[in-house]
Amino acid sequence: MPVIFKCSCGEYISVPNKYIGKKLQCPQCQNIINVPVPGEEEKKTE
Ligand SMILES: [Zn+2]
Repeated sequence: MPVIFKCSCGEYISVPNKYIGKKLQCPQCQNIINVPVPGEEEKKTE
């Protein structure tokens, strides 16, 4: 299942979930970015 996240340059990047927590180079801005863990920032406070 692919992970989709947004780079700081505004580009949406889709990668296989094996890249979660790893570093990739953005194809748009060439920056090295960390692939975020899905849902980490959307935790419900219950
Ligand atoms: Zn970028």
